[in-house]
Amino acid sequence: MKVTDHIKNANGKTLFSFEIIPPKKGNSIQQLYNNIDPLMEFNPPFIDVTTSREEYLYIEKDGLLDRKITRMRPGTVGICAAISHKYNVDTVPHVLCGGFTKEETEYLLVDCHYLGIHNVMALRGDAMKHEQYFKACEGGHQFAKELVGQIQNLNKGQYLHDVVEVDDKSDFCIGVAGYPEKHLEAPSLKTDLKRLKEKIDAGADYVVTQMFFDNQKYFEFVEAAKAEGINVPIIPGIKPLAVKRHLQLLPQVFKIDLPEDLIDAVETCKNNQQVRQVGVEWAIQQSKELQDAGVPVLHYYSMGKSDNVKAIASELF
Ligand code: FAD
Repeated sequence: MKVTDHIKNANGKTLFSFEIIPPKKGNSIQQLYNNIDPLMEFNPPFIDVTTSREEYLYIEKDGLLDRKITRMRPGTVGICAAISHKYNVDTVPHVLCGGFTKEETEYLLVDCHYLGIHNVMALRGDAMKHEQYFKACEGGHQFAKELVGQIQNLNKGQYLHDVVEVDDKSDFCIGVAGYPEKHLEAPSLKTDLKRLKEKIDAGADYVVTQMFFDNQKYFEFVEAAKAEGINVPIIPGIKPLAVKRHLQLLPQVFKIDLPEDLIDAVETCKNNQQVRQVGVEWAIQQSKELQDAGVPVLHYYSMGKSDNVKAIASELF
């Protein structure tokens, strides 16, 4: 079922969902299941599975460094199919512009359609680690808006090149990313919102936000989005802070602000176990306020470990 239909069917009740990361290649999918199992009692209608960009590996050979390009966490679509099959739940593969040609994206979408996957998150992806700015690969998309357009074309039965007779069109429900504190490359929040509106106009059905730790930022973002003419569901993304290093890392990587009270609470912690507890308590307060405000879904970034998300969900669902 589509994410938007799950939201409609909930009749205003806030749903629970979460995002997982594929294991590093060579690792068992069992560890993923071990982290999903404890969360299934909260009845997630859908689970997101991220996609990682390719990266360079340097392998020493005959005294020289040989550069190879590889994906360390492949298998997003396969994992989606495995999870859907095992738990009877909808899954949402993240589809990236970065590192994929339009043809590769088309084949991936065809796989999703055959597998009965009805939702995809359309994302640009970040720059590769050695690049300062995002660069589309030859034959790939530069912005998520273009990827949304390709998926919508497929929904109309329009493939990239082939003149084919289509008797079984896909009908993907498309999610896109939104940034309550603006995307790091955007010159202003207003400009970023215009870009978000372009993604909706291209056919996106719902938005999932970047993490934020101050609900006011989300509420203001939703108001500003409405003023821009964005009328699709805007799902808040919640990340429980887990280690002291997050105080520097999260603002640096995502260009988000952390509230003073949260920083103070984390700084008084003696170890990361205490930080994890502070993160859980903060996320519970955030989630309760968002639930009271009637958000459609509370979507958690689990980062592969579910104990803290379970502790939060137990208080709410
Ligand atoms: P876009 O919407 O294309 O926007 C990127 C930037 O370009 C923005 O600054 C925007 O304002 C600007 N822009 C857009 N259109 C134009 C235009 N026409 N002209 C000029 N500027 C323009 N990354 C991963 O690698 N894998 C994942 O699985 C993943 N999942 C995510 C899930 C969520 C919920 C979120 C919020 C992010 C996720 N990301 C993921 C990170 C995401 O890929 C990065 O934030 C990326 O830098 C931007 O992606 P986007 O889809 O928002 O890009």
